[in-house]
Amino acid sequence: MMTDLRSDTVTRPTPAMLQAMMSAELGDDVFGDDPTVNALQEKTARLFGMEAGLFFPTGTMSNQVAIKTHTQPGDEVVVEASSHTYLLESGGMAFHSGCSIRPVAGNRGRLSPELIRAQVNPRNDHFPVTRLVVIENTCNRGGGSYYTLEQMQAVSEAARAEGLRMHLDGARIFNALVELNVPPAALGPLFDSISICLSKGLGCPAGTVLTGSAEFIKKAKRYRKLFGGTMRQSGVLAAAGLYALDHHVQRLKEDHERARRIGEALSRQRWVRQVWPVETNIILFDLTQELPAAVLVNYLASQNILCVATGRHQIRMVTHLDITDDMVAHVVATLHAFEPVAA
Ligand SMILES: *Cc1c(COP(=O)(O)O)cnc(C)c1O
Repeated sequence: MMTDLRSDTVTRPTPAMLQAMMSAELGDDVFGDDPTVNALQEKTARLFGMEAGLFFPTGTMSNQVAIKTHTQPGDEVVVEASSHTYLLESGGMAFHSGCSIRPVAGNRGRLSPELIRAQVNPRNDHFPVTRLVVIENTCNRGGGSYYTLEQMQAVSEAARAEGLRMHLDGARIFNALVELNVPPAALGPLFDSISICLSKGLGCPAGTVLTGSAEFIKKAKRYRKLFGGTMRQSGVLAAAGLYALDHHVQRLKEDHERARRIGEALSRQRWVRQVWPVETNIILFDLTQELPAAVLVNYLASQNILCVATGRHQIRMVTHLDITDDMVAHVVATLHAFEPVAA
């Protein structure tokens, strides 16, 4: 059996989730008649203290439509330099929205109020108009680091004092919320839009919900059509989302605990230079100069453990719904048994 730690997107729907999908009431969502999609949009919006929600096939499309809805071509968007919206969405911000981008190096993916204030351009004819700040929580390339509620409040206050809009890329927002023990409704007042992925830790096969004000969502809905993201009997996917919101949120803590066990085993290996603090379900670690990431990735694959190299000497592992305690024990034992051969 494979222990697949490449991403929390590799999960298959559980039998109970499939059952919920099979028994979902469906309709054509273009006509607004899919009751399951409507229920998911309303439930997610209410959960996050927002007026309305909109179902998308992917998190990338949800983020890109949010950016498009908040900006005009030529506006500037402030992002953290390692963020998904900037680095891992194929340059979509420039392509779809024609925006100027201000990537800022933060602390493991996080921006501070000071960093945000320092990016605001003077309002005159020469500079692009600084319009929007996008933050990510948890931070993927930050190794699963998260902003606390207080940090999100401070960042939001700083941005809004400058007249900027705030979008939260919440691909893994529930991973942060369960660690913080904060209800999602606390976030609504802090952001103009929040994108929540169902296909990461929540274990759905696909789907993301974008939330915001009723007016924002009405505008975003037109852009979703323009981007080709309008679906028909998408209730079959929304049913998985509803099931996951009810059953797969609190258990994320188990993923974090398993990630910490793997991080702990790694930190005891002399061929590991550093393990980034394991805050949620992502384990990011750097190897010593003598050990290329590919060597360890190949060794682990030969032992039925999959992970990805995120740099020449850096590897990422991600725990999720399909990772069991036995698999973690196998990973730990395999790491202890590894003997790098001198090149
Ligand atoms: C996965 C991810 C997304 C969305 O990715 P899709 O594969 O398009 O659903 C957005 N932001 C972050 C931080 C992610 O990790």
